[in-house]
Amino acid sequence: MDDDFELSKVTSDLVYDSLQDSRKVKDFKILTKSKFLNGLQCPKLLWTRCSDPLYIPPPAVSLQRVFDIGHEVGILARKRFPGGAHVQEEDFGKNLQETKSLLADPNPKPIYEAGIKAGRLYARADILVPSSTIGGAWDVVEVKCGTDCKEVYLQDIAFQRYCYEQAGIRIDRCYMMYINNQYVKRGAIDPEQFFSLLDVTEEIIPFVEDTPALIDGFLKIIDMPACPNISIREHCGQPYECQMKPLCWQFLPKFNVVELSRGKAKGFDLLDQGIMRLKDIPSGFKLTDKQQIQVACAISGDPHIDISAIAGFLGMVNYPVCHMDFETIFEAIPRFDGTRPYQQIPFQFSVHIQESPGAVPAHFEFLHKGADDPRPALAKALKACLSLDGTILAWNKGFEEGRIKELAVAYPEYAEWSADVLALTEDLIVPFRSFHYYHPDQHGSASLKKVLPAFIGKGYAGMTIADGGQATTEYIRVTYRKDVDSVDRAQVYADLKAYCGLDTSAMVEILERLRALSNLGDKP
Ligand code: SF4
Repeated sequence: MDDDFELSKVTSDLVYDSLQDSRKVKDFKILTKSKFLNGLQCPKLLWTRCSDPLYIPPPAVSLQRVFDIGHEVGILARKRFPGGAHVQEEDFGKNLQETKSLLADPNPKPIYEAGIKAGRLYARADILVPSSTIGGAWDVVEVKCGTDCKEVYLQDIAFQRYCYEQAGIRIDRCYMMYINNQYVKRGAIDPEQFFSLLDVTEEIIPFVEDTPALIDGFLKIIDMPACPNISIREHCGQPYECQMKPLCWQFLPKFNVVELSRGKAKGFDLLDQGIMRLKDIPSGFKLTDKQQIQVACAISGDPHIDISAIAGFLGMVNYPVCHMDFETIFEAIPRFDGTRPYQQIPFQFSVHIQESPGAVPAHFEFLHKGADDPRPALAKALKACLSLDGTILAWNKGFEEGRIKELAVAYPEYAEWSADVLALTEDLIVPFRSFHYYHPDQHGSASLKKVLPAFIGKGYAGMTIADGGQATTEYIRVTYRKDVDSVDRAQVYADLKAYCGLDTSAMVEILERLRALSNLGDKP
């Protein structure tokens, strides 16, 4: 599997909150929790979300899955504090009204999605729980889809505490409830074990102290008549991948300095100096060897080819060569017994086997179509087709190796086979990641999606499923949802086969071309 798709659990929390906010809080001048976090990331993002929200590109289709994850985790979290009242979520006014009357109930119980407005501030805690130690006070429980405690979560909870207190509600303890990534599903999910509950009351104190000044500054930004001028920098991807990136970054020319391999900070410094193109970097500027290759290629327009290094890599590749690729699902709430939250579960593989250089490869593929655990059938099919005589190639092999190791842990009968597979596996990304070969059209990346068009002249354009994230989303949709018709399902399965098959057929072509470049030609 070669793609840049890694569902950011932090991003998923913000996207979920933003979508919730935008559906419910129609007064764009109100500072909600997600806007507060926008403000922490970038004033331009905050202003645009409040004053020109339609300018922000809509979230990618695959982010619907992020919303689904947040929704499912939220429902499970309520079971950790059962017996509560779920406040009307869709209607902002009713949400506030219902919360108010529940807070005044002489027999208080947990409140889910309790909305509070204090002046221009709006907070909506995932769960408010009556304090067990102070009568009339409440504990705030903030639920996160992530698997650890991040600073941005503390700022988020601090904002909520401040808002509630501004509204006259007494807050006792504050908790962050996140997913315990060591939890292993055995039967029904146990919310007590699935979530880690962390008392962060003390940790958020400095953040609460900073909150009024931050709010003051953010409200001023919201009220500005024009968008603040903010330069692109690392903050565009931290702590969240900003939805505005396609717009803010579009001024960058082709072969720009931000493409420098492992050199984002360097690239931003160059931009600050008014240098946008790789070819305009001054000759004395300190660059790594790989970055120097990038610059030289941008200037010449030609690829860089280190024939002896390529030959050295090819010397480790023995025929028959099995080109192997997996597609996986990973879900916050594990679906199958014996699996953990966010564990990568392979549901599909493609293997192209080339017996000798230049030979027409044989293709083997597997796609699990049932709603049960795909791993037993996948392991059996993979073992049946993989040759253990030559070399097994993967692209960015750590991912495939990880799945093979997990199969051996889950099914010990595959332990010996798994060790053999791992011993034979090499990584076809190496010549590209090491810059033995570099084409300017790779734009500093060694991902298969970038290498294939640059090196072979083919690509994924026009494919219905064109990246790993989409493959995961679509597979989950058609395999586990009951409201999908059979035509839709069949089409998605065909698209998945085409996508995964292209990954390994591309690897065959790339290996052949590397051999040609290194003058090995068709010699065995
Ligand atoms: S892309 Fe960067 S500069 Fe643009 S709004 Fe987002 S964080 Fe701000």
